[in-house]
Amino acid sequence: MKDSKLSAAEVIAGWNAPDQVAAAQAHLLSPFESMEKLGQTPDRPLLTRGEGVWLYDEAGRQLLDGPAGMWCTQVGYARPEIAEAIAAQAMTISYSSPWYFLNGPSAALAARIAAVTPGDLNHVFFTTGGSSAVDSALRFMQFYNNVLGRAGKKTILARIDGYHGSSHLTAAVSGRAGNRPNFDLEMETISFLSAPNMFTRPEGMDEAAFCDHLIAELEERIETLGADSIGCFIAEPVLASGGILVPPQGYHQRTLEICRRHDILYISDEVVTGFGRLGHWFASEEVYGITPDIITFAKGVTSGYVPLGGFAISDAVLARIAGEKSKQSFYSNGYTYSGQPVACAAGLASMDIIEGDGLLEHVRDIAPYFQAQLATLADLPLVGDVRGAGLLGCVEIVADRAKGVSTDLDAKLTLRIDRLCYDKGLIVRPIRSMCVMSPALVITREQIDLMVRILRESITEVGIAAR
Ligand code: PLP
Repeated sequence: MKDSKLSAAEVIAGWNAPDQVAAAQAHLLSPFESMEKLGQTPDRPLLTRGEGVWLYDEAGRQLLDGPAGMWCTQVGYARPEIAEAIAAQAMTISYSSPWYFLNGPSAALAARIAAVTPGDLNHVFFTTGGSSAVDSALRFMQFYNNVLGRAGKKTILARIDGYHGSSHLTAAVSGRAGNRPNFDLEMETISFLSAPNMFTRPEGMDEAAFCDHLIAELEERIETLGADSIGCFIAEPVLASGGILVPPQGYHQRTLEICRRHDILYISDEVVTGFGRLGHWFASEEVYGITPDIITFAKGVTSGYVPLGGFAISDAVLARIAGEKSKQSFYSNGYTYSGQPVACAAGLASMDIIEGDGLLEHVRDIAPYFQAQLATLADLPLVGDVRGAGLLGCVEIVADRAKGVSTDLDAKLTLRIDRLCYDKGLIVRPIRSMCVMSPALVITREQIDLMVRILRESITEVGIAAR
C-alpha cells in the first residue's frame, strides 16, 4: 500500500471506507492494542460521522456514545461554533511560537480558565493533552523544589488504580496494573498508596472507618519516607480509568490537610472530572471542597475537537519561587504546541457553548436521573456494583461475587456485553469488567433511558447464555 493517495477531501467525505480500513491494517499502529494483531484487519469499527451524542459507523449504524469518546466530547459532536472558531483561527494565525510570541487565544483561554478554577489558581500552563499536562505538573514540582534548594523533596505519592497518562513519568505514577507490563516504570521516587475503592474495601469497614484507614496509611507513609523527601501527592478526584472510584466522604479534605501540614504539593488531576463532568468547571472545590495547589486538565477543555491540555497553579506556590531568588531558575519545560492558537480558539468556543447552553446546570439537573437509572441495573445477577458521580457511571460485571472483582471471566463477559450493546446501538468501550458510561454533557433523559435499556437487555442476554 506504499502508493496510497487517499486525499483529505475524499477521506472526510467518506467515499472510500474500505481503502481507509486497508490503510489502517497496513500502516496504523493503534494504541492499547496487542502486537499479536499487527497487520490483521482491525477489529475496531471505522467511524464516519458524529453529531451530538451520536456516532455513525461505516455500516451506517447509529450509536449512542456512552463514554463520550474517551470522556472528552463535552458539548457533543459537530458543533459548528467550534468548527468555525478552528477555521477562523487557522486563517488568522494558524501557529505562533510560544518561545517568542504571545497569542490572543491562549491568553484569553488562560484568563477564562483562571476565572473558573478554585481559590488563587490564577496561572495556566498549556500543553498538548492530559499526559503532557500531568507530566508538566510533576516536572514543575521537581523544578519548584530544586529552586527552593530542596533537592531531596521529590517523591511522588500516587495511588494504585490511578491513571495519569502515557508519557514515561505519567505512566510510572499510574497504578493500574494493566498498563504497566513490558515498560520500565519502576522508580524509587514514586510511592503508591491504596486505591480509595469502596467496593473492595476490607470487610466489615464502613465508609468512615475506610476513610480513617486510608488516611492512616498516608500518615504512616509520610512518617516512613519523611516529609522532607516527598514533593507531591497526585490524585484524580474520582479515579476514572481505575473504575469510577469515588473516595469515601472526607477523604479529599483530609488528604489535602495532611499535604499542607507537610508542605507537600497537592496535584488534582481533573483531566476527566474537569469541564463539567461533575456539573462544575472543576470538581475539586465545588464537589469535594478542596483548593489544590495544581489542577491538571485536558479532554473536555476543547470537547475533544483538537488536542489541548494544561495545568492551573496557585499564586501562593508561584510566589514562593518568584522574584530575586529565582534569577537563574529557567522553567525549560514547554512544547512546540504550548498555547497553540487554533487549539485555544477551540477551547474558548467550547467554553462559550458550555456557558451559553447552561450545560453545567444541565449536568447538575440530569446527573441524579442518570445515576438512578444506572442503579436500576443492580438487580441483574451479573451486576456486582453500580457506582458513579455526576455524569460518570460504572456498571461492574461480576460473575461470582464470592471471588471479588474483575476475574478474567468477568472481563470476557463484559466484552460480550460490549459487542451486544454495539449491535443494539450503544458504545460501551469496557475497561476490563467495567461498563463505563460518561456521556456528552448534552445527553437527554430519553437518551439515558435508551442507554440503560440497551445495557439491561445486553447484560441479561449474556447472563442467560453464561448459565
Ligand atoms: N489523567 C487522567 C485522569 C486521565 O484519565 C487521562 C487519560 O485518560 C490522562 C491523564 C492522560 O490524558 P491523555 O490521554 O490526553 O494524554
